[in-house]
Amino acid sequence: MSLNDKVVIVTGASSGIGAAIAEVLAREGAQLALVGRNADNLVATEASLQQKYKGVKTLNVIADVTKDAEAIVQQTLKKYGRIDVLVNNAGILGSGPLETLDIEEFDAVLNTNLRGVLLLTKAVLPHLIKTKGAVVNVSSCAGIRPFAGALSYGVSKAALDQFTKIVALELAPKGVRVNSVNPGFVVTNIHSRIGIKDEAYKSLLERAINSHPLGRVGDVFEVAEAVAFLASSKASFTTGALFPIDGGKHNLTPR
Ligand code: NDP
Repeated sequence: MSLNDKVVIVTGASSGIGAAIAEVLAREGAQLALVGRNADNLVATEASLQQKYKGVKTLNVIADVTKDAEAIVQQTLKKYGRIDVLVNNAGILGSGPLETLDIEEFDAVLNTNLRGVLLLTKAVLPHLIKTKGAVVNVSSCAGIRPFAGALSYGVSKAALDQFTKIVALELAPKGVRVNSVNPGFVVTNIHSRIGIKDEAYKSLLERAINSHPLGRVGDVFEVAEAVAFLASSKASFTTGALFPIDGGKHNLTPR
């Protein structure tokens, strides 16, 4: 996929979709900076990559995307000397309608899903301009269509989608491409992290299965393959695009 030896930063590589993105990029020969806050989980991702792809180059960067953009860039440059691709995957869920919205939660969701992406993209930018690199943002189907009761998350991802399009236009003259993937429901830890467990999770999953026209939820690797494509030179004429990986859900009437 023309990712051989490319230096790629993957945020949120310590879990779920981000760990799968790291795996697909390793398969394609990329050199990886794996970013997350949980050191044990990062080590687990790294160990799994080393086992599957002998000799893969990895760097664990224990960092918070809301605070540590410069450290992420400096540690990556120190090890690899350049940056070709930034995958902004780290993200958190928020729940609840406006009536009962917890403003602190709203701030935390926007801070991670939008402001964190902005800070890291801005910090990486001079290096991506040098390599004529690419950014891939992991947004959501919830950025494209509204879901009642998911206000913070939907607003954060819709704003992220506009960020993708605007920055794509700004950077096109410099040869840097910026795109997003917009997944539907994918089974990861993202729901349990906000306390959705057991029966509540079962019923959420059932509703999710029924709300995807393809009649199932997605798999982390279905998202990861699309990220790898957009990161690679195979997508050399694609910028400012939102790529739904959602079994057709973004086209449905909200319900
Ligand atoms: P997980 O909860 O499994 O993983 C989230 C990742 O983000 C973890 O690696 C976590 O790392 C990292 N992260 C969160 N906050 C920060 C932070 N402040 N600094 C650094 N890392 C952080 O969720 P998913 O894999 O499901 O989610 C990945 C992305 O996919 C998110 O952007 C999410 O919005 C998006 N998405 C997910 C969908 C789904 O159904 N699962 C659907 C649509 C989009 P750590 O714990 O180490 O800090």
